[in-house]
Amino acid sequence: LYRLQPKVKQLDSARVGLNALIPSVEDVMSFLDRSDKPYIRSGRTPFKGLKQAIYFESVSFRYNPLDKPALRNVSIQIPQAKTTALVGPSGAGKSTLISLICRFYDVTEGEIYVDDCPLRQLNLSDWRSRIAIVSQDIHIFSATVRENIAYGRLEATEDEIIAAARQAHAQEFISNLPQGYDTQVGDQGIRLSGGQRQRIALARAILRNPEILILDEATNALDSVSEHLIQKAINTFSQDRTVIAIAHRLSTIEQADQIVVLEEGRVVEQGSLQHLLKLNGLFAKLYQLQYRSALT
Ligand code: ATP
Repeated sequence: LYRLQPKVKQLDSARVGLNALIPSVEDVMSFLDRSDKPYIRSGRTPFKGLKQAIYFESVSFRYNPLDKPALRNVSIQIPQAKTTALVGPSGAGKSTLISLICRFYDVTEGEIYVDDCPLRQLNLSDWRSRIAIVSQDIHIFSATVRENIAYGRLEATEDEIIAAARQAHAQEFISNLPQGYDTQVGDQGIRLSGGQRQRIALARAILRNPEILILDEATNALDSVSEHLIQKAINTFSQDRTVIAIAHRLSTIEQADQIVVLEEGRVVEQGSLQHLLKLNGLFAKLYQLQYRSALT
């Protein structure tokens, strides 16, 4: 029981009302899902798919009341079935923006809308089940390759797992492992390279068939073969999905429908690549320094 005490305390400090004493199964599930952040409560509106856009309306966010805001008065639209690239210096608030979309935290001020519904009113497990994140920090479990991919959707069939691996261009390296899909990876097994881990992450995401794909691109370049394969797989997979990319690759930025430039928690520039280059502001500077130089 003592292990529950901190949770009860957290609940108490989040000033959860009487309703929380008679939670629905869904509430309990979402509570368990994010047990480190119990004040995130599921809304009750079912999520039936994104029709227009995700809207940030004057959103500010602080991780702690005494911290400086990680996001300040952010108003943006993330249109459905388009690619939005987030760029900006380290600490600008890119990951925070993603965390708010996933509702790992709730906004401090302002509101996020999914079409015309406030995000906090949406059923949280519905919403999160439609989002997949492909990140450089993917966790590889100490398990087989098959189990690591299937983590994207536990009830996936063997055929679906193999199809996802193929689409993620992971099939070839998997078939070269000693026991193929049965090879143990992670702490107790074979250590996968950065590029291989990313392809597993992508296969997991593909298996989930998400409506919203979040790409957290690696800052450090992979070897060029991995890079090319991953980029190709992601491009195919991104078609007709809503993609939000923390973009470090020039090709992602060039292919984005819109670019949102953040600095110290504020949106300082926004628009197409051509528009931002014409502005000759922060983005143009980053572009010259960071992205063009990556080509040389
Ligand atoms: P990077 O490119 O380095 O990943 P970023 O643009 O993603 O940076 P964030 O990680 O969103 O920036 O950080 C925005 C601000 O919020 C920074 O000042 C950071 O120190 C702070 N911050 C981020 N995560 C937390 C956290 N869990 N608790 C407290 N402060 C945080």
